[in-house]
Amino acid sequence: MRVVDTLEASGYEAWVVGGWVRDALMGCRGHDIDVTTSAPWQETARVLRAAGIEVHETGAQHGTVTAVVDGLPVETTTYRVEGAYSDRRHPDEVRFVTDVREDLARRDLTVNAMAYHPGRGLLDPFGGQDDIACGVIRAVGEPARRFEEDALRVLRAVRFACRLGFVIEPATQEALTAAAPGLADIASERIGQEIDGILASGRMAWALRHEFDVLAAALPELAPLRGFDQRSPYHAYDVLEHTARVCAGVEAVSGGCAARPLRWAALLHDVAKPSAFSMDDGGRGHFFGHPEEGARVAGRVMGRLAVERQTVREAQALVRLHDLPIKADVRSTRKMLAKLEDACPGRGAALAHMLIGLKRADALGKAPNCLAYAVDLDAHEAALRTELERGKTCAVSDLKVGGADVIRERCIEPGPGVGLILRSLLAAVINDELPNDREALLAELRYDD
Ligand code: ATP
Ligand code: MG
Repeated sequence: MRVVDTLEASGYEAWVVGGWVRDALMGCRGHDIDVTTSAPWQETARVLRAAGIEVHETGAQHGTVTAVVDGLPVETTTYRVEGAYSDRRHPDEVRFVTDVREDLARRDLTVNAMAYHPGRGLLDPFGGQDDIACGVIRAVGEPARRFEEDALRVLRAVRFACRLGFVIEPATQEALTAAAPGLADIASERIGQEIDGILASGRMAWALRHEFDVLAAALPELAPLRGFDQRSPYHAYDVLEHTARVCAGVEAVSGGCAARPLRWAALLHDVAKPSAFSMDDGGRGHFFGHPEEGARVAGRVMGRLAVERQTVREAQALVRLHDLPIKADVRSTRKMLAKLEDACPGRGAALAHMLIGLKRADALGKAPNCLAYAVDLDAHEAALRTELERGKTCAVSDLKVGGADVIRERCIEPGPGVGLILRSLLAAVINDELPNDREALLAELRYDD
């Protein structure tokens, strides 16, 4: 509260606002603090610096400076309202005002439109506290106008409903469904942050079932999943309900804390099913090649949404391998590890656990005759643990011989041939045809010569 105290000691008014207030009322610790003040940003910067607080001018045109107190950033913004949004993305102008209530009125949701001051207490003109008590997401002001001004609010409302476990008030719901097509005009990296936020809440299944119009507007590649009849004895649900079950399933098998790549993979694992569909003479549906195509689509979608590259690569590997046949034996386990290690060096073991989690959730989301496979996977998980304890051999770098040995023993020049020979040795080790033992591998190199 040093920022608030310092500004007030200089004759300005200042409040803590937004997410920190909401989270504090719900008994959680906010991860960042926003302050709103009557001081113009130049004054904010001057007063805080005079008190020895570090200040960065991060968004002067919006009236925002970032103070750093005890190593934590405090975004400090002058009371403001936004003008018209002719492009549904950016307000045409920002106007500074003198009354904090006007500033609160421009905020998106009642639970986000409260201000707190240590001396004056809570300022809650839109009933945010009641909505928290009742678990309700409600737009501030007239919902249709608020969502039309800025379509990102549509996705934010869904993200907060997921994160807080709240329901959306009916008039707000009606307005946000109507405004959802406006998401097409929103910058894709901002959409990516919100989708990531929904996944991080662990409630993507709820969003798929209850807010699919919004998700399909944000991520058009999902649209064909709704109502897609799989015509398969293995599937009791359309691809959308199956996907929702898999999203819920990965949370269930990881105690509600599924890893990020696993969450993305659950959402996108069957995204290419509609385009890969074919029907045989018996009227049964097939989806040949959908994991590979799904991995391509996942790469494209996640790249567009600016998800960072490592998560994209890992999610793609999981999507590509989600139908990989595996057995609960050493050879099959090593092959699975090698494929994952190949796709994402250094991540084979972690991804193998995720892949088994994805397969388990996938089985739970199919028809009842597939449920037993989810239990069978216990044996695969056990085989994986045993293999990992025994010491891994799934990357060329784990071999007990290296490129220099190949060059010396085979008398060849450095170049791509060295890698090829190492990979053939790795394949032999994975297939149990050779032990990963230095002498044995050197003997093999000499023998072939
Ligand atoms: P989080 O915990 O996700 O950071 P937050 O509530 O702090 O939640 P921010 O995106 O950091 O959310 O925004 C801070 C505050 O700014 C919000 O609480 C809300 O009052 C306001 N806000 C943010 N984005 C919008 C928007 N698009 N339209 C209206 N108000 C917004
Ligand atoms: Mg915040």
